[in-house]
Amino acid sequence: MKYLFLLIFSSALLFAQDGDEEFVNPKDIIPKVVIDLRYSSPDHSFLSLPQGDVALPKFYTANECLMTYKLAKALKLAQDSLMNIRNFNGNFYPEGIGIKIWDGYRPRAVQYLLFEVYPNPAYVADPASGSKHNRGGAVDITLIDLATGEELQMPTEFDDFSNQASHTYTSLPAHVINNRDLLKNVMVNVAGLLIYGAEWWHYEVPGASTYPLRDFQMK
Ligand SMILES: [Zn+2]
Repeated sequence: MKYLFLLIFSSALLFAQDGDEEFVNPKDIIPKVVIDLRYSSPDHSFLSLPQGDVALPKFYTANECLMTYKLAKALKLAQDSLMNIRNFNGNFYPEGIGIKIWDGYRPRAVQYLLFEVYPNPAYVADPASGSKHNRGGAVDITLIDLATGEELQMPTEFDDFSNQASHTYTSLPAHVINNRDLLKNVMVNVAGLLIYGAEWWHYEVPGASTYPLRDFQMK
């Protein structure tokens, strides 16, 4: 009996690991998450490049977010925790704080196009080896007031590739640092995700670099 239990238990673990790499729509698991895929918008730019800001074309065919099940489960833990916050940083959040997703799974073909615009691996992963976004293991996110949908003030806009986007940048008002730190603390300590030092908005699951590279468009 004991062995049967162990057998079932280990099969369940194996099954869970297989399922973790499957792609899901995070909306199905986190109904209140806001999806605003910036690369599906006609008016998004890379900011603070050496040549100035560069407007990007619309790279995605739909504002439909996908990611691995493992990452979606981690974001749900974070969202469940953030929703309990009412008072933070001198502000009142009647429905708590929420997550807005700017990017999740990114087709590898788009990685080539982004790298053409800014071939700097500190900010845009080399498509030859692929980004963790191409593997469904990374997200770019910010925090919102769930009652109004308004974004909390963060150090920079999304895709601002200046020092100000770094987690170690401190020449900022205290409330902005507190917002950035809240996002980091929840993503790391509650969701178990990893930070990327140069970009306050990027989080990824440990081991994401072993997931397969994918290249299909959203529908
Ligand atoms: Zn990212």
